[in-house]
Amino acid sequence: MATRRPVIAANWKMAGSQQLGEEVLEKFKLLPSSSAEVVICPPSVYLDSLQQQLSKHSSELVNHRISLGAQNMSHQEFGAYTGETSGAMLKEFGCSYVIIGHSERRRMYGESSDIVADKFIMAQKMGLTPILCVGESLAAREANRTFEVLNGELNAVLDKVGIMAFDNALIAYEPLWAIGTGKSATPEQAQEVHAFIRQRLTEISPFVGEKIRILYGGSVKPSNAADLFTRPDVDGGLVGGASLNASDFVNLCRIAS
Ligand code: PEP
Repeated sequence: MATRRPVIAANWKMAGSQQLGEEVLEKFKLLPSSSAEVVICPPSVYLDSLQQQLSKHSSELVNHRISLGAQNMSHQEFGAYTGETSGAMLKEFGCSYVIIGHSERRRMYGESSDIVADKFIMAQKMGLTPILCVGESLAAREANRTFEVLNGELNAVLDKVGIMAFDNALIAYEPLWAIGTGKSATPEQAQEVHAFIRQRLTEISPFVGEKIRILYGGSVKPSNAADLFTRPDVDGGLVGGASLNASDFVNLCRIAS
């Protein structure tokens, strides 16, 4: 079985501050080492200062692998798209990753699965690794439609990009009913869905299915993380609320390591 390095990604959403970046890095300096890969996705306007803070503290962070990510990007390359940020700009400001298709973007900003697939393509074209978010609503889960919804969201991207594009991507399973609600999926529910997603990809390419890292997102916190992260198909977490507390976030990285 492939050994997959865990990933803990912070999604600050429209919160946080330059000061939070400093606090998080100070806490990492106190942690001797972590084997988990850490991705911090602040609002884009903070990327520059975080990049500078990372470089300022680099000699004290050599035992950690901390990368920057963005929470969203345009599916267009450049041009007259007021308010948008391109993949090339994110790359210029130090991003290696970008969250694609977060449910808040799908739900509140009308991002269709088609646009999500286009963003995925553009992210890779710009040298960024997409973190593709998928997840079912409470109504879909209660109607036993969880796998159908996930299949639909995965297929929308797979059909456009092909399986090999997933060799350089992460998937985040984020059930909508668990995001920001304080009510996490149980470790059993998370494992069941992660195994389904992996199986779905393995059927097309055993190589990609075994290798891809699938993160769980939805009210992850230090008190529930160990139980979630030790499930065989859960390769870490995408963390919203708890990533805004520097101690909690660094603690989550320690638990995942
Ligand atoms: C998220 O929005 O990606 C998320 C997982 O949020 P929270 O951890 O707050 O549920």
